Amino acid sequence: MSPTRVLVLNSGSSSVKYQLLDMRDNSRLAVGLVERIGEETSRLKHTPLHGGGATRESTGPIPDHEAALKAVSAELAKDGLGLDSSELAAIGHRVVHGGKSFTEPTVIDEAVLAEIERLIPVAPLHNPANLTGIRTARALRPDLPQVAVFDTAFHTTMPESAARYAIDVRTADEYRIRRYGFHGTSHAFVSRATAELLGRAPEDVNVIVLHLGNGASASAVEKGRCVDTSMGLTPLEGLVMGTRSGDLDPAVIFHLARVGGLSTDEIDTLLNKRSGLIGLCGDNDMREIRRRVDEGDQQAQLAFDIYIHRLKKYIGAYYAVLGRVDAVAFTAGVGENAAPVREAAIAGLQELGLAVDAELNAVRSDEPRLISPAGARVAVAVVPTDEELEIAAQTYALVARN
Ligand code: ADP
Repeated sequence: MSPTRVLVLNSGSSSVKYQLLDMRDNSRLAVGLVERIGEETSRLKHTPLHGGGATRESTGPIPDHEAALKAVSAELAKDGLGLDSSELAAIGHRVVHGGKSFTEPTVIDEAVLAEIERLIPVAPLHNPANLTGIRTARALRPDLPQVAVFDTAFHTTMPESAARYAIDVRTADEYRIRRYGFHGTSHAFVSRATAELLGRAPEDVNVIVLHLGNGASASAVEKGRCVDTSMGLTPLEGLVMGTRSGDLDPAVIFHLARVGGLSTDEIDTLLNKRSGLIGLCGDNDMREIRRRVDEGDQQAQLAFDIYIHRLKKYIGAYYAVLGRVDAVAFTAGVGENAAPVREAAIAGLQELGLAVDAELNAVRSDEPRLISPAGARVAVAVVPTDEELEIAAQTYALVARN
């Protein structure tokens, strides 16, 4: 029988997250992560889900990604699921930036690696770490197909009118400046799952997807294809996020440089790490912000209001871009869990056919579900995202085809 397991790897600069799935029934066999790679206190947390063993944790120096993957393989081997297993069909790698060239999941070879490397200038934080993960995994299993699944791929269908910034065309092309969009694996998964929830084909429905995690992005999906998304050249643009500003007047940057005397790196850190919710109120966790709001904290209230105002603007903008909307879908940590965010974002949009039923909105569940009142013109849904399953499914489909 052909192998049916897929290992999904998400390699960050100092971490590796992994899941092993069996594609016969999409079940998880093991999940885990290695954190603080390169430090004395690296931590490996491994949870076998196959046969029901307990979570194992260990702390100690793990110097680099190669050591991290070997440690992961050793943990998997204890459950009879090692990287050397003949049941492993492929490894699927999350790659953040695929530029314009990668419109689909791609089997990795030297040319693909070179292209991911060529994209480092537009993804300096992410692509180097993704490359390290890929190279390490290939060294461990050179015989195994390895597939890159790009965060940007789902957005490559955007028309030029949405993808281009209104700046000098030659400059934009020279530096490859355009809207790429991110979280594409999630937007793809959730827009399809929303169509399924409505009992319709993805090609028949228009969906606004709101991926609200620590990073957050919105997308307009027309008949299964992305036509606009809020993140841009980098994941900084768009919605208010946990620590990122999202949209602002680009002249804020000149102002900070000229008047404030800040360096480019300082401004980068300010906008990516010390802005958004944490910059506005000192907390980036929506649970904590809601707790403070409920206690009457004015600063937390203002941060919440700014977050919601921006979200509402994007719902309106994408409603106009799509012309007809069948569903608005909330997903990721905040979207799936924070009922007050969903309620506030949709409040006042009755004229657009949008409303939230308070009782349905209060239900907690891991299942896709509708929270709009029965008979509503536009469905409002909560659709848990599953980026790992999507990466595994795309990887497996590609390998099975070849
Ligand atoms: P990412 O993948 O971007 O790190 P997630 O999608 O896991 O983020 O979302 C993490 C965020 O989800 C947390 O920062 C927190 O704000 C929010 N979150 C998680 N659980 C809840 C909850 N029960 N209520 C409100 N917000 C929540």
